Amino acid sequence: MNRTFSIIKPDATKRNITGAINKLIEDSNLKIVAQKRIQLSRDKAEGFYSVHKDKPFFNDLIEYMTSGAVIIQVLKGNNAVDQYRKIMGATNPDNAEAGTIRKEFALNIQENSVHGSDSEKNAEIEIRYFFDESEIID
Ligand code: ADP
Ligand code: MG
Repeated sequence: MNRTFSIIKPDATKRNITGAINKLIEDSNLKIVAQKRIQLSRDKAEGFYSVHKDKPFFNDLIEYMTSGAVIIQVLKGNNAVDQYRKIMGATNPDNAEAGTIRKEFALNIQENSVHGSDSEKNAEIEIRYFFDESEIID
């Protein structure tokens, strides 16, 4: 069992499809062990995506991620990091496999509905960036 960090992004909260996304998460045997609906500040979003700060899409990404509510989550399960990346699908929904969250719901490469950690190490860093351990209930 391990954990991963997830964000349901503003394009999805605006379209009221967070439940549909949670259903795909739960159907894949991942358990939502923490969940909060929040508004990201610019500072918090820039810190979270600091690895991308030199990318051409960085400013647009921060604008988008602060444009509405997000749902932050901790997911637990067997190989949670890889399992969630698999059901998320490719960053660009045009390249995502059928049945994945991004193929079903993403609007484009930016408004792609979900974030998932890319390694176990980053998962723990990202969880700690948003949650106190006392808020994670198995
Ligand atoms: P992933 O979310 O699949 O791990 P990245 O870490 O590479 O993808 O990028 C972080 C986020 O930045 C993406 O989920 C997407 O919202 C946005 N993004 C990535 N690449 C682009 C791009 N070429 N143009 C616009 N936005 C992008
Ligand atoms: Mg990434």
